Amino acid sequence: MSTRPSVYRTASEVAEARAQMSRQGESLAFVPTMGFLHRGHLSLIAEARRRCRRTAVSIFVNPLQFGPSEDLARYPRDLEGDIDKCAGAGADLIFCPTVEELYPPGFQTQVEVTELSKGLCGEHRPGHFRGVATVVLKLFNLLSPDAAIFGEKDYQQLSIVRQMARDLGLRLEIVGCPIVREDDGLAMSSRNSGLDPSERRQATSLYRALGVARHRFAAGERDPSVLTATAIEVMAQAGARPEYAELRDGRTLQTVNQAERGQRLLVAAHVGRTRLIDNVEL
Ligand code: AMP
Repeated sequence: MSTRPSVYRTASEVAEARAQMSRQGESLAFVPTMGFLHRGHLSLIAEARRRCRRTAVSIFVNPLQFGPSEDLARYPRDLEGDIDKCAGAGADLIFCPTVEELYPPGFQTQVEVTELSKGLCGEHRPGHFRGVATVVLKLFNLLSPDAAIFGEKDYQQLSIVRQMARDLGLRLEIVGCPIVREDDGLAMSSRNSGLDPSERRQATSLYRALGVARHRFAAGERDPSVLTATAIEVMAQAGARPEYAELRDGRTLQTVNQAERGQRLLVAAHVGRTRLIDNVEL
């Protein structure tokens, strides 16, 4: 039987709880989330538990990473359900601050990972990754984790956090975990809850598009623009509105001239009012 996790709402309380753990010599693995938890998040908590003695989860819908045209208010929330899921997954500590707690009046500092934030989602969501880097660094500072666990679902985000940790000399390990999918391949996402039944069917086209492109690569196609055009076509034919399909170096996220194994194929598309992303390794 796991005990209920401790739930903290203020920065000072959670920092003190972490200090107490440190005094007892306990290591901490941290899973930052925006809540409305699903099995993808739970896989990160499981990885956190494998890595450290204690596990912390943050649940915070970060307004800094939403653009003015993006509907922050529409983001799904279920704090009580999330706390139960964290308890079931064996998390020890939950940090669920209010917006005012993390960004009190007068807050004005932001962190920008300049190059990696350009292109892909960064091109379509200006300021998004600045908001991500800022909240992640603030959470790292409050929780002083030994490891932080992120999903490859948000591949550009994972690359940006790794870069930030390297550039700023953060003393923690950044761990990436594979994408958890529904049976039909759709990458799990809190945003999937906003899809109606016909949109839910269209949403499967992202993973299908990646699969078709990967198939063409396996059959010998090496031109990145052919592979990405294939992916765009599959999504568009299903009724999704593709935003991008791109082939990038798996480590640097640089564009590539020739398709090779180990590179990353990334897509984004709108389905109804919902924006979805996915990626696979070539
Ligand atoms: P979010 O709550 O969407 O901000 O996601 C919090 C963390 O969970 C991020 O590191 C995501 O990459 C990760 N995540 C979200 N969906 C999945 C998934 N389907 N599989 C694995 N990790 C995921």
